[in-house]
Amino acid sequence: MERRRIVIIGSGPAGYCCAIYAARANLKPLLFEGFYSGPAGGQLMTTTEVENYPGFPNGITGPELVDACRKQAARFGTDLLTEDVVSVDLSRRPFIVRGGQTSVEADSLVIATGALAKRLDVPGARDGEFWQKGVTACAVCDGAAPIFRNRPLYVFGGGDTAVEEATFLTKFGSRVYLVHRRKELRASKIMANRVMNDPKIEIIWNHELERVEGDKVVHAVALRDIDTGQITKHEAAGVFFAIGHEPNTAFLQGQLELDEHRYIKVKPGTSYTSKEGVFAAGDVQDHIYRQAVTAAGSGCMAALDAERWLSAQGVR
Ligand SMILES: Cc1cc2nc3c(=O)[nH]c(=O)nc-3n(C[C@H](O)[C@H](O)[C@H](O)COP(=O)(O)OP(=O)(O)OC[C@H]3O[C@@H](n4cnc5c(N)ncnc54)[C@H](O)[C@@H]3O)c2cc1C
Repeated sequence: MERRRIVIIGSGPAGYCCAIYAARANLKPLLFEGFYSGPAGGQLMTTTEVENYPGFPNGITGPELVDACRKQAARFGTDLLTEDVVSVDLSRRPFIVRGGQTSVEADSLVIATGALAKRLDVPGARDGEFWQKGVTACAVCDGAAPIFRNRPLYVFGGGDTAVEEATFLTKFGSRVYLVHRRKELRASKIMANRVMNDPKIEIIWNHELERVEGDKVVHAVALRDIDTGQITKHEAAGVFFAIGHEPNTAFLQGQLELDEHRYIKVKPGTSYTSKEGVFAAGDVQDHIYRQAVTAAGSGCMAALDAERWLSAQGVR
């Protein structure tokens, strides 16, 4: 079996940025980009304009940004495999990384498998419909887009993230509606009070999204009353899902410490995980910031941490 000094799993900004640094440190990284686990290139492949990544004053599309990162990683000698990692064995060193077709030994391992933003699967909200034409899953990323300015915006969810997103969107929308399936928010009391006292936010209790309507972009949402089943239509320019993320950690099969939401636990301020020689970067270990630039930054940290750790082990 081939042995590598560093293997990186995941092809978002965290994985590619880690690869750029590791390749430039002469570690000849191997990067598993994924295949069935999600689009190679990660969450940015599902978005159109990225306007908050530094270096692009006029914005850049998500796929273009990812493609540039990928080329930069390849240019310095990263080997890229468009395969999922199916399992890892962290009980021995070198570690074993088993892909769909390729298995390798790894002296060090960086996990950058990201997280999936959950979406409501209703008519109008799907790919090829109004997804990214008014329907999104990231208020911080997309809220400032002109189509949302001074228009009614709908946030779906009831936890802290939904409350944060609704509050953030009051900067842009004419009014923000927080739609929740229950009669009580799951958010912490302090957050719930904040949103209930915000004059720009109205909570619509006990309703769920039935469908999204529009022409080129979103114009309306149809909501269903959970108790009566009655459907009402409301003018809307934006639909923001804030119903949680699913970190891609199942393939680890309990070999690393995770938090209660299945994100990888890292030593604060570093990329060190609970297992020596295994590092984590990007959204798979971050449920707070979840941005391309923070993911890329933590990818850089993981490469530097891994490189120093390998040196200390006498692996160069
Ligand atoms: C709709 C939307 C719009 C967004 N817009 C912006 C924006 O404008 N600006 C911004 O800064 N951020 C934006 N974000 C957030 C940003 O996309 C993420 O923070 C960032 O992509 C996280 O990068 P990552 O490298 O940690 O993981 P990801 O981008 O999630 O990439 C992880 C990769 O790992 C792969 N993978 C998973 N499991 C395996 C496995 N077992 N084997 C191999 N590969 C695997 C996945 O297929 C995926 O390609 C947006 C997110 C969404 C959902």
